[in-house]
Amino acid sequence: MIKYKTSEEIELMREAALVVSRTLGEVAKLIEPGVTGLKLDKVAEECIRDQGAIPAFLGQYDFPNTLCISPNAQVVHGIPSDVPFKNGDIVSVDCGAILNGYFGDHAYTFPVGEVKPEVLELLRVTKESLYKGIEATNTSNRIGDIGYTIQQHAEAHNYGVVRELVGHGLGTALHEDPQVPNYGKRGRGKRIQNGLTIAIEPMINMGTEKIRQLPDGWTILTADGLPSAHFEHDVAVVDGKAEILSTFDYIEEAIGVL
Ligand code: MG
Ligand code: MG
Repeated sequence: MIKYKTSEEIELMREAALVVSRTLGEVAKLIEPGVTGLKLDKVAEECIRDQGAIPAFLGQYDFPNTLCISPNAQVVHGIPSDVPFKNGDIVSVDCGAILNGYFGDHAYTFPVGEVKPEVLELLRVTKESLYKGIEATNTSNRIGDIGYTIQQHAEAHNYGVVRELVGHGLGTALHEDPQVPNYGKRGRGKRIQNGLTIAIEPMINMGTEKIRQLPDGWTILTADGLPSAHFEHDVAVVDGKAEILSTFDYIEEAIGVL
């Protein structure tokens, strides 16, 4: 069942989302060759707690850390490690926080040093597909229109759209109804209504859309070993259209616009 939110609840969700936005901004300042995922994880946990919030992923479904850190061919749900990032890597950092009982959950894929132009293009197109999906999140549309829009943009660049993992409703739980796939058919699914709060998170692969999972039970990788990108925003439907509750401004202040 979808829990539509009041404007007061949406304001609380914005505060939770912004805790994550500021944390990703701090993470952004540190990303360079030689830095490890575990270092970022420690900084993120401190940053979340300093804002009076609680890391949302830590212990959720028994996940061991604050951040999901997924380099290169890892799609999502990577566990932070002590392996240093290398020049030319891309690293998806997904972060969640709980503030006043509401969840923020958003993600960005960072370039490390000099990244090949075709890989930077994957990042740009994935981010564009997120914003196109957000534009499609309006009360003239249905949930399927969001995924349709994301899929059209990604596949126009011959990328693979991951099917098994999807965006989701967000609120007093990390995962609420509805599921928000990154693929779909026009005009299908529930009608979008004011008060809907969702995390939209395209996971776009340079090659095949097929994935596999590491024996750690968490890490999702592309089946062909090619890179994958992931960008996520939290949005609320207000006055018929999507309002973005999270922001990449802190990240872009630190590293510039992709
Ligand atoms: Mg996330
Ligand atoms: Mg999410």
